[in-house]
Amino acid sequence: MSTLVAPMILKHWIGGGLDPTPAERYAKVTNPVTGEVIASVPRGTAIDVDRAVDAARAAFPAWRDASLAKRSAVMFAFRDLVFRHQRDLAALVVTDHGKTFNDALGGVSRGLEVIDFACGIPTHLMGGFSQSVSANVDTLSWRQPLGVVGCITPFNFPVMVPMWMYPLALACGNSVVLKPSSDTPLAIQMQAQLLQDAGLPDGVFNVLYGGRETVQRLLEHPDVAAVSFVGSTEVGRYVYETGARAGKRVAAYTGAKNHMVVLPDADMELAADSAVNAGYGAAGERCMAIAVVVAVGDAADRLLPMLVARIGRLRIGDGMADGVDMGPLYSAEHRDKVAYYIAKGVEEGATLVVDGRELRVDEHPNGFFLGPTLFDHVKTNMTIYEDEIFGPVLCLMRVDSYAEAASIINTNRWANGTAIFTNDGGVARRFQTEIEVGMVGVNVPIPVPVGYYPFGGWRESMFGDLDMKGEEGVRFYTRAKTVTSRWPEPGLRGVNLGFPQNT
Ligand code: NAD
Repeated sequence: MSTLVAPMILKHWIGGGLDPTPAERYAKVTNPVTGEVIASVPRGTAIDVDRAVDAARAAFPAWRDASLAKRSAVMFAFRDLVFRHQRDLAALVVTDHGKTFNDALGGVSRGLEVIDFACGIPTHLMGGFSQSVSANVDTLSWRQPLGVVGCITPFNFPVMVPMWMYPLALACGNSVVLKPSSDTPLAIQMQAQLLQDAGLPDGVFNVLYGGRETVQRLLEHPDVAAVSFVGSTEVGRYVYETGARAGKRVAAYTGAKNHMVVLPDADMELAADSAVNAGYGAAGERCMAIAVVVAVGDAADRLLPMLVARIGRLRIGDGMADGVDMGPLYSAEHRDKVAYYIAKGVEEGATLVVDGRELRVDEHPNGFFLGPTLFDHVKTNMTIYEDEIFGPVLCLMRVDSYAEAASIINTNRWANGTAIFTNDGGVARRFQTEIEVGMVGVNVPIPVPVGYYPFGGWRESMFGDLDMKGEEGVRFYTRAKTVTSRWPEPGLRGVNLGFPQNT
């Protein structure tokens, strides 16, 4: 392998190596702890996309025809390499994203789960065969890869989210053009290198950096068969509509506003721990973060002092330092946007219990820090409730009944994840049945399903039909082919214009 250190000037990865073509324009990559520019990343053009898609198209037929044993072997080797380099990958994520090292390591593990699943691709692609569906007629059905797949990923999980897409796409026999976020690109090249070291043929996996122009070209390129997208609702809706109009298979997993219901009979210590972990982990920059705690009856009064005490003990700083619980936000613009929302919450009448804008991190005065923030008495018509803030801002809502809590969740525009905290099994069972949200936790605040189960939200948290990961991922990256056959035998010949009847 060439290098495991991120270069200062990143390059696209096309046809099995770093792209020698100089970029016309570059974007800056910053370290959010120090505010320093640490790298530059090419802003790809439509022509660059065409070169990447050409490489993927050329590599596709041989990879499609590679045996299942070969594709599985590449995934096993890749699994081993990612496992061995998980700390390197996590450190790169900390460097440009700012989350803590342990958190980044957790993200790599959740990516590994999907590679584990992809190692078993011979089993997942087993087809069906029926002998003698009619006299002397057999039917064979199996799933084939689509061709070139585009994967477009967000800033907040530069290892995990791509790994929820490309291992399955590749194992199914597709070639891939990955278009990651330019804000957190450092860990991307290592993934391309590790795939190559695992024996993936050149051109089967390509990386193209860039923004809107590259996405637009991927969505309209005639040789791109399908696009997987993870990111904001606004962009995801556009990706879904534009890709579908161009005749592509598209799945877009998008924004969220996740609620955690706390009933009066819940284990309040556990609920308080969970709300703080899920609200402020990764500085709230997770699509499955808890943004709203919906406390029923007297639960709010008991929960509030526990939340405040825990927030007071959180340590904010450099994610690589020992004992730090929360790092900065990923960019100065995003930090300012979150601060705007805090001001808006105050203006619209919510009670600001803990104000993260007051935080100062003396060792890193130029970092993009904003402390954990807690609002009480939040109402559904407030901007801090209506918008996805995607920062360390937790909203406490007070309601009188379980039914009121469920109704709030079921009428929110987003429906990615939700959770209930209770010791009443009957209510928990009712919640998991009637709540209209894709992923549900019972005394689990962030119910991200393990790698072999599907991941996907409902309503405006997803545009498309199939979830990511698991068997749904295999279905997304393949299409069914069904063969009906018979072999000449005496008595089969003869002209008959009628629709065949099964005999
Ligand atoms: P984003 O929508 O800004 O960017 C996502 C991708 O789209 C990036 O690759 C980006 O370069 C590209 N992009 C950005 N603007 C574009 C435009 N105008 N036209 C075409 N492409 C564009 O999202 P983000 O800020 O990187 O990530 C945060 C968002 O992602 C949040 O809304 C979060 O909830 C969501 N997210 C969802 C999931 C999920 O599984 N549902 C997981 C992680 C993040």
